Amino acid sequence: MKKKEQRFPGGVHPTDGSDKKLSKDAPIVSFVPEIIELSMSQSGGSLCEPLVAVGDHVERGQLVGQPKNFTAVRLHASVSGTVTEIRTETKGPMEVPLLVIKPDKEQPEEQEKPYQKEWVSIDGYSKEELVSIMEEAGITGMGGAGFPAHVKYKTDKPIEYILINACECESYLTCDYRMMLEHGMEILNGVHALLKAGGAKKAVICTEDNKQDCAEHLRKLMEGQKAAIEVMVFPTKYPQGGERQLIQAATGKELRAGGLPADAGVIVSNVQTAKAMADAVFGGIPCISRCITVTGLVRKPGNFLVPLGTPLRELLHKCGGPAKLNNKAVLGGPMTGSCIGHQVKCADLTQSVTKVSGGLLILFNEGMEESPCIRCGSCMKVCPAGLTPWKIDFALRKGDIDLCHKLYATECIGCGCCSYVCPARRELSPNTVKARNDVRAMLRERGTK
Ligand code: SF4
Ligand code: SF4
Repeated sequence: MKKKEQRFPGGVHPTDGSDKKLSKDAPIVSFVPEIIELSMSQSGGSLCEPLVAVGDHVERGQLVGQPKNFTAVRLHASVSGTVTEIRTETKGPMEVPLLVIKPDKEQPEEQEKPYQKEWVSIDGYSKEELVSIMEEAGITGMGGAGFPAHVKYKTDKPIEYILINACECESYLTCDYRMMLEHGMEILNGVHALLKAGGAKKAVICTEDNKQDCAEHLRKLMEGQKAAIEVMVFPTKYPQGGERQLIQAATGKELRAGGLPADAGVIVSNVQTAKAMADAVFGGIPCISRCITVTGLVRKPGNFLVPLGTPLRELLHKCGGPAKLNNKAVLGGPMTGSCIGHQVKCADLTQSVTKVSGGLLILFNEGMEESPCIRCGSCMKVCPAGLTPWKIDFALRKGDIDLCHKLYATECIGCGCCSYVCPARRELSPNTVKARNDVRAMLRERGTK
């Protein structure tokens, strides 16, 4: 198999791969937890309004949350059960309702469907129907940002490529890897549906050379098929799965500053989004589950395909709990995830699985003592967006948002490469992300964006 040239600047090689080895051979385990805690905010600033009340019985797949803002999508019950409580959780500036559902002892039986084991035809669906199914099923991007998928696919810009992000370039995470090995046929049928929904000429499944076995497996499943789907393998390098980096590596196109993928004729979707699309189109199942990796300093790392709302404490418990007390818990990957606690035990975790939860990591708590910048320039060398992180950091600390703007802080993708390499352990990435958000807010206030 030919390896593609690496074509994006900057980036880092955070580990030797031993981190992924912890869970890559752990087959996906599915289970229904004892309780479901379904947040009405499934990603970023999204918010839904509950459509059920305490005491109601809900069926798996029933609509239980109606979008209240642009970044939200429809939310469905992930299990059959009874709503026992609706409480409020604080997420940033928002007060978010959370449905507590006690699952029924007997859940609807899951029968194997044709799209799970063979190619199925997409001929009976129009582009508009597919986008409508995507919206009805409440599909978001499942790679992290959680943007409503149907909004991306409704674009009136001509789309040439659908890029399927199967890089899983963050260390430790292996859930996408396992999904490709164990649910490859569903993913391919989903990619085929996304290809038609986007009106694109070609879909490219993009992965890294530490997942050659996935690439081979998917190619084998595609043998004899005429669908315009290709698998490309790139050298393993973080952040290969960043939207801009992927577009550049797979198509050679460079996005202009402030541009969207659709401006370059591209839509990028995650590999688990493709699986959710297949479930919705061919299985009639809305987006009610996802696969998550639980790993790091746990006794038994694993990958779990679970209903949305599965409490993280129950997942951590399944993995034998933290192996060390001096730990920190991270939701997501080690580079872009958020710290959700220190010295945690299972019971300390209050969050639950959402549509964007790719990993729960228990890492050694090293602590972070910042020291003055020594102007080594390392942060500039690794920044895939071509920024000068140390200058943006200084400008932000001085409160000079205009200067942050002049330094193109809006182009920061929050990848964490700058923080990772900084010998002075400066809080670069959180600050460059804050600078980006502050500049955007300033431009909105001035009415220039
Ligand atoms: S400045 Fe932003 S894009 Fe550049 S390395 Fe830091 S986090 Fe990544
Ligand atoms: S890597 Fe750290 S010490 Fe080096 S220039 Fe950047 S901020 Fe300064």
